[in-house]
Amino acid sequence: MSLLEVKNISKKFQFPGKKEIYVLKDINFNINEGEIVSILGPSGSGKSTLIRIIAGLIKPDEGVVLYRNKVVTDVNPGVSIVFQNFGLFPWLTVEENVLLGLISKDIPIEEKKERALKVIDIVGLDGFEKAYPKELSGGMKQRVGFARALVVEPDILIMDEPFSSLDILTSENLKNDLLELWIGNKIPTKAIVLITHNIEEAVYMSDRVIIISKDPGKIIEEIDIKIPHWRDKNSPKFLSLIDRIYTTLTGGEIEREKEILKASKEILVVPYARVGAITGFVELISDLGGKTDLFKIGTELYINLEDLLPVVEASELIGFTNYKQGDVELTEDGEKFVEADVLKKKEIFREKVLENVFLIKQIVRVLKSKANKRISEDFFLDILERRLTRSEAEKQLDILIDWGRYAELFTYDDETDELILEEEAETHLEK
Ligand code: ADP
Ligand code: MG
Repeated sequence: MSLLEVKNISKKFQFPGKKEIYVLKDINFNINEGEIVSILGPSGSGKSTLIRIIAGLIKPDEGVVLYRNKVVTDVNPGVSIVFQNFGLFPWLTVEENVLLGLISKDIPIEEKKERALKVIDIVGLDGFEKAYPKELSGGMKQRVGFARALVVEPDILIMDEPFSSLDILTSENLKNDLLELWIGNKIPTKAIVLITHNIEEAVYMSDRVIIISKDPGKIIEEIDIKIPHWRDKNSPKFLSLIDRIYTTLTGGEIEREKEILKASKEILVVPYARVGAITGFVELISDLGGKTDLFKIGTELYINLEDLLPVVEASELIGFTNYKQGDVELTEDGEKFVEADVLKKKEIFREKVLENVFLIKQIVRVLKSKANKRISEDFFLDILERRLTRSEAEKQLDILIDWGRYAELFTYDDETDELILEEEAETHLEK
């Protein structure tokens, strides 16, 4: 049976200096009784916005949410949410924090307490009823978060990246405990929606994965995971599902980046990746034989997709690697770069960024045109701010300076907040 229907949901937000932009566009899916569904997407793809809409906390611009066939117009009575940052009140005990879940319910206090104590026991916090959050570890705090959501006995338990602020071991424990409660019917919850950007987690936990892309958040694929619990993370089936989802996610991102690049030679942004990360990445690909499956790097090194993507994109922009359908391959220049000594590396890097990175070229051009070969960073920040927010512009400049410094093209003077052309840069440029 369908518990929840999300129909044609779209949502726009006002972004600084820009018109309204769609964060979510034409989202359609159902949540059925008896299933765990993951919603998987990169950060900023609108996942939290989507669950706020489902919970009835904010209104969509288009579309409706139906809970048990009724349009949700106010707070959705059928769902409760577990948040990433626990959301506990430090001055309340575990028991009092859990009781908060029932604050709006018209139930005698004795019964509320009974339910709270029972659920505290279920999540494994028996004995910690009177403890304060500061006395608890991260994993235990999140158990309180679970208890507070479960005490309501919601039809649908929604979890917004509930494991992502925990260390790996703790989060594995918590995932397994939650699955055990679910599989063993120890909680009355009828369906679980898990928001995550972790592919392995989605494949491990859920019956169905809904993948959403960014700008705007759109469903790009839906995959049924037909593996019985408990799942073996090293089984070929498990790994091939991860591989497939990884390709869908990275493929979308990188192809889109390439389109933007093609559309405009004057690309005004660089991926947020420092030289150290780019060289490390290129060397790793070389160590792995010059070509590798991108998802393997992610899973083996426990790197999040979001942390890895800018590095992949930067190394592609500069011209050291090529990405195609899930594989990253070293280019000829990439190989040369790996084999070169320190000085030669800088030289290759310099040539490549001057060839391929519009902003680096622009900065060098402007600096050369100045008699004193220096210019205030505000000059560039102002230009960048026409398209970006102040903090994005600062991050951009930060990366550009990092690249420029390594390439020995320009540096940054902390005292005057100026960019300065490197003395040797002009000779490099004449070559
Ligand atoms: P996710 O949870 O997938 O990381 P969010 O739903 O939190 O994504 O945010 C999606 C985008 O919408 C982001 O760019 C975010 O900055 C923007 N956004 C979220 N809430 C608001 C809001 N209330 N006003 C303006 N922009 C918002
Ligand atoms: Mg979020």
